[in-house]
Amino acid sequence: MNEYDSDSLAQSLINDGFFPTSNLDKADLILINTCAVRAKPEQKAFSFLGRLAGKKKNRPGLVIGMVGCLAQMHGSSLLKRFPYLDFVIGPGEVGNILEVVKKAGPHHIKVVATSLCPAPHQPISCQGYFSKRVTGFISVMEGCDNFCSYCIVPYVRGREISRSPAEISAEAKDLVSQGVRDLTLLGQNVNSFRWEGEITGDFPSLLHELSGLNGLYRLRFTTSHPKDLSDNLIQCFRDIKELCPHIHLPFQAGSNRVLERMRRSYTREHYLELIRKLRAAGPDIAITSDVMVGFPGETDDDFELTLDLIKEVQFDSLFSFKYSDRKGTSAERMGEKVEDNKKAYRLNLLQGLQKEITLRKNKDLEGKRLEVLVEGVSKRGGQLTGRTASNKVVNFIGNNNQIGKLIPVKIYHSSPNSLQGEATTF
Ligand code: SAH
Ligand code: SF4
Repeated sequence: MNEYDSDSLAQSLINDGFFPTSNLDKADLILINTCAVRAKPEQKAFSFLGRLAGKKKNRPGLVIGMVGCLAQMHGSSLLKRFPYLDFVIGPGEVGNILEVVKKAGPHHIKVVATSLCPAPHQPISCQGYFSKRVTGFISVMEGCDNFCSYCIVPYVRGREISRSPAEISAEAKDLVSQGVRDLTLLGQNVNSFRWEGEITGDFPSLLHELSGLNGLYRLRFTTSHPKDLSDNLIQCFRDIKELCPHIHLPFQAGSNRVLERMRRSYTREHYLELIRKLRAAGPDIAITSDVMVGFPGETDDDFELTLDLIKEVQFDSLFSFKYSDRKGTSAERMGEKVEDNKKAYRLNLLQGLQKEITLRKNKDLEGKRLEVLVEGVSKRGGQLTGRTASNKVVNFIGNNNQIGKLIPVKIYHSSPNSLQGEATTF
């Protein structure tokens, strides 16, 4: 979601005549797009902002803005705490960036824009700065209504609002006509996408509508909430050939007692039943997830149940986090906080277990030919990089005219984060 917001901010500014630069000393405007979901990204954003004080001192004309969930969460107090900050913009106001910059820039007026009523985003154009993009993102909904007890999202991104299918379709067509071949639909809980207007629709009907787009090879979505993953949506993995065999389905904890305190509205048994249904629909479907350790009151036995679930499901990969208190959430007010060293111990154990599973799964792919959509040149250079339909990163030696194409690649080496292969023929 944040990347999508960053792209949209960049697009608005480029349309208005700004040029992007990676050199902070040359920038006239610095925007820090932030995430408030956990304490770690919050600390990172503040330490980066702290480092900008000297730059503003040297160049008083420099304009600095903080955008996103942290801006929403702290609002005008940020301007007091960091007097060299010119404006704060919440995620709902990303579409208003130009008005804010125009006020704050030349006139040195401090601006706080934190309305939660989403302003329309600037659609990304693949010309210029964004040209040659093979992968694209479309936000299909904003906000969240779930209020999981640990989560700040509903407070900083507001209530759930779905966008109109007509608007989403038009954005998708535009991206595909400009060369995007792999499209990911974004939302905090895409499963509860619902539109009642000139046409009524749910998420499966949106997927069906987009799947027929001429030139679109791959369709993905994230994130799914287990409580709303319907049989109809699972059926889409059978029926829609563009829909990639990969689902990101956060489970958060393996113990029903903890899941209840998290207010997740499903049980371990329900989650495992969903996994069974997904694998029945597509035996090779890749399943990834989010999990937390050290939620208030999590005992050693609860944690064992989390490890046990990981062993049972055998995820392709996992994002794992230490629980951190978020101000104003109901988990913040809970007692029985788990000590940090215990959280660190549990996280380490969990990550070790998952690493073994990911490595073994990736090793099973050695010797196989996989279809890779080539996205560009790898960061290390000298190689092309792309992804399989199941979302595994593959690097191989090729030539630049393969970018944007589906290329068969034979895998000869695997590591936890990527696969190494060579281009071949089927
Ligand atoms: N909408 C998604 C998650 C968005 S937040 C969903 O419902 O799954 C991304 C991930 O951050 C969550 O899945 C969770 O694992 C983690 N997270 C959220 N709040 C957290 C907190 N207070 N402490 C630690 N991790 C947290
Ligand atoms: Fe947060 Fe829960 Fe909403 Fe995900 S579903 S964004 S974890 S409140």
